[in-house]
Amino acid sequence: MNTDYDVIIVGGGPTGLAAAVYTGRALLKTLVIEKQFFGGQIVNSFAIDNYPGFADGITGYDFTQAFVKHAKRFGAEVREGNGAEKITKEADGHFTVALADGSAVTAKAVILAMGRHPRRLEVPGYDKLFGKGVSVCATCDGAFFKDVPIAVVGGGNSAVEEGSFMIRYASEIKSIHRRDHFTAQKILIEEYLHSPKVRPVWNSTVEAIHGEKEVEGIRIRSLQTDKTEEFPVKAVFIFIGWIPNSALVKDMVDTDADGRLIVNELMETKVPGLFAGGDLCVRPIYQLANVVADGVQAAISAEKYLEGKKH
Ligand code: NAP
Repeated sequence: MNTDYDVIIVGGGPTGLAAAVYTGRALLKTLVIEKQFFGGQIVNSFAIDNYPGFADGITGYDFTQAFVKHAKRFGAEVREGNGAEKITKEADGHFTVALADGSAVTAKAVILAMGRHPRRLEVPGYDKLFGKGVSVCATCDGAFFKDVPIAVVGGGNSAVEEGSFMIRYASEIKSIHRRDHFTAQKILIEEYLHSPKVRPVWNSTVEAIHGEKEVEGIRIRSLQTDKTEEFPVKAVFIFIGWIPNSALVKDMVDTDADGRLIVNELMETKVPGLFAGGDLCVRPIYQLANVVADGVQAAISAEKYLEGKKH
């Protein structure tokens, strides 16, 4: 079977780049395709503080640069700004990946690492004011909101971590969560709640975001009393979970009710030669270290598959 590549990796975040380091080292002809820019969600992280071995932390940008360099050093070809539009398994077993620019590439195995995107808050004002105070990335937009009151929505690691980042800018942070406690890591919660700028608003949801040309306020509703309250804020940073980028392959592979790909411990999907890992998939945890490990496992499984043998 003649193909352009041995392995095509779809997605250039930590999972895809880790896979590329390993397939490159295995001397497999490798292409990484990334529809936007390398690094995925992690590229926006102002400080990666929990990746073992980086004692002083590292920015998402620096981490990504090093990762891409590493993959290239072992021969992986990397392409940014051209996503996969369609993946087909052909009758002879090879894969064709149609790209957004109209071209197509072929490979004997494919590793899916497309990650996920932020969940929308379905309230009036979200669409109209997105990019005008409504944001899903504090690192990207935080500096626009210096010395003004803001809101942060959500109670997981993302909300608490990104809310902590906003302490340096905002005059006050209404931290709105539908439970009576955050579910983030304890060390993150302690640091966050230690700031006098952070005002948790428990058992509450955002009902509307107001403003004409930019965010001017929000209405929240208490889940306990059903009472509403207005807060004048200039920005609303929303971190309420993620949607997997699985539309491309949802008819080929098994997914759970949330659209996350179901893989086994070898990162195999039900399609021979098609592997997947990272945030795209059902995983027990979503930490940088384990999504990197997924990429490593997917690469080694692809290598074994190409050798015609299983573990
Ligand atoms: P998450 O853990 O799924 O948390 C989502 C938060 O949004 C929860 O507080 C949830 O409330 C709330 N929520 C969901 N839908 C909502 C809605 N419609 N309205 C209001 N609130 C809503 O998401 P995440 O914080 O982005 O984290 C995702 C994964 O990445 C996790 O596994 C996390 O550990 C990992 N992560 C790790 C780090 C780190 O290690 N530093 C940083 C970021 C993310 P309920 O709890 O009530 O459902």
